Amino acid sequence: MTHTHYWHPFADMHAVRDNELVMDRGDGIWVWDEAGKRYLDATASLWCVNVGHGRQELADAAASQMRQLASYSTFGAFANRPALDLCDRLAALAPVDDPRIFLTSGGGDSIDTAAKLARRYFHVMGQPDRVHLIGRTYGYHGTHGHGTAIGGIPANRMGMGPLDDAHTSHAVHDDLADLEAEVERVGPGTVAAIFIEPVIGAGGVHQPQPGYLEGVADLCRRTGILFVADCVINAFGRLGEWFGPARFGVRPDMITFAKGVTSGYVPLGGVVIDGRLAAPFWDRAGHTFRHGQTYAGHPTACAVAMANMDIIEREGLLARGLELEQEIALALTSLEGHELVGEIRAGTGALGAVAFREDLLGTHPDLPARVFGQAMDRGVLVRPLGDGVAISPPLIITREEVGQVASTIADALDEVVRDLGGVATG
Ligand code: PLP
Repeated sequence: MTHTHYWHPFADMHAVRDNELVMDRGDGIWVWDEAGKRYLDATASLWCVNVGHGRQELADAAASQMRQLASYSTFGAFANRPALDLCDRLAALAPVDDPRIFLTSGGGDSIDTAAKLARRYFHVMGQPDRVHLIGRTYGYHGTHGHGTAIGGIPANRMGMGPLDDAHTSHAVHDDLADLEAEVERVGPGTVAAIFIEPVIGAGGVHQPQPGYLEGVADLCRRTGILFVADCVINAFGRLGEWFGPARFGVRPDMITFAKGVTSGYVPLGGVVIDGRLAAPFWDRAGHTFRHGQTYAGHPTACAVAMANMDIIEREGLLARGLELEQEIALALTSLEGHELVGEIRAGTGALGAVAFREDLLGTHPDLPARVFGQAMDRGVLVRPLGDGVAISPPLIITREEVGQVASTIADALDEVVRDLGGVATG
């Protein structure tokens, strides 16, 4: 029997090898598989198709740039107009002082760039001992070397060998006192950077406690540690802002972004960097940051990002993101009290999670997968993760469609209860 040759990311290939879901096309909040079945894409692919699927304007921007100059390196002195224009535009919008932009091919690239730059900066500044990187429980920062090491989802680190464990550690995600204690334990003078997703995404959708991000910013200011806000999910409208941190009144030293910058139409990411960190490299000769990817500043990707930002601006999708956080929270809250549901996590940002009862997850760890499967059968794609399922729809979804997502999840939950022959009440 022939099987796929495609090794899927984050997949049990034994289960998937003969059971792929082949997506074929998309339009707005909808996608269709090869068999013609239509799904409401309540996750915007992987938290990224913020302007929705099927935008001709983005296809045209890519085609037009490809005809002119599809691809060219930006190593050394090389540049191209779309990359320069995009960096000007991002710099004008980012809540970072005197910002410089380093472009990459995605979120993981951006995290590893930020981690290496933090260390390199302190090295240039005569503090070579500042190398330690702190992440948080539930944090997800991609699957590159540093991102895997600072990530706080244990399963993602399992069996990967030593991951710079001597120079990375984790604090409890919503506990400022624990973060301060971790900094003290390691020694503030040896910590280069703390990595924080303002709203945690892939780790299960966790909103920050009031005052938490302000506290992190203050801790970093007091200790000289760099505050890296990982906004790979949070930026480009997901928190109702271009980048997200402004929402909490903080100005990080670096902001990583990807996904929504092109609405996922082409791979692109980057890091916004405080001018203070750039100074030793930009103002003095001889300090090169020997780091970068072949596709950094890729002209086609940057042209698509510009067109994508035009759509976000023209259609008011930042404001819509802010409205959506209420609509999503309200819709998901209607599931509270369901016999499978432990808690609803929503209310900051256009994303939310339905978490299942801990006691049930003990006996049925496959609850997220089951609910995902039932929702998919009913034509709605949600994302199974950790202790529940999450949604992060395109920002063009309507209030009614959000309601439709919630009622489909409710039907999926009911069906799972029937499949299990009922569950004990919690
Ligand atoms: N950081 C965060 C917060 C993410 O959510 C992700 C991906 O989901 C990444 C980094 C990694 O991005 P990529 O998958 O583009 O490497």
